[in-house]
Amino acid sequence: MTIAIYPGSFDPVTLGHLDIIRRASKRFDKLIVCVMVNSSKHPWFTIEERKEMLAAVTKDFQNVEVDSFDGLLVDYMAQNDISVIVRGARNIEDFEAENVMARANKSIAGFAETILLFSDPRYTFLSSSFVKNVGKYGVDLQQYIPPQVIPKMQQKLRDISAAV
Ligand code: ADP
Repeated sequence: MTIAIYPGSFDPVTLGHLDIIRRASKRFDKLIVCVMVNSSKHPWFTIEERKEMLAAVTKDFQNVEVDSFDGLLVDYMAQNDISVIVRGARNIEDFEAENVMARANKSIAGFAETILLFSDPRYTFLSSSFVKNVGKYGVDLQQYIPPQVIPKMQQKLRDISAAV
């Protein structure tokens, strides 16, 4: 049984992420979507909120599980018998960053193979940051994030505007 992990920030999960999840879930026996705690980023959503949104949007995928981890990705992989890392690539910048990360992970843990899935053309410009940036200006987010995430984003946008 081949288990793959799709690690990321998912702050919040977008239709681009969901497309990668859908495609990767067809290629592996099991896919774990793992929210990684990344202290260098300033997320809008807590780890729990991000996990809840991921669980809601992946509930119909039988072989997809959602988890989170505060530590080295390859340690989580070793602990859970996972050898494949799935990542998405939208453009040359993603490719370069993913290339460095894949080599770094492999140098720490030789069993860790990274598989890159190229973004669907509809989502090559789409990122969680884009959604947060344009959401502030009232842009309709339906074509960028799953329907279950819309009310969570609206609430977060209200919280943020109330705090300033
Ligand atoms: P990270 O902080 O780890 O980059 P993200 O949540 O931004 O976390 O992205 C997780 C993974 O999903 C990365 O491999 C990223 O390149 C990929 N990704 C993000 N947005 C898209 C998209 N629109 N289409 C395809 N892949 C994407």
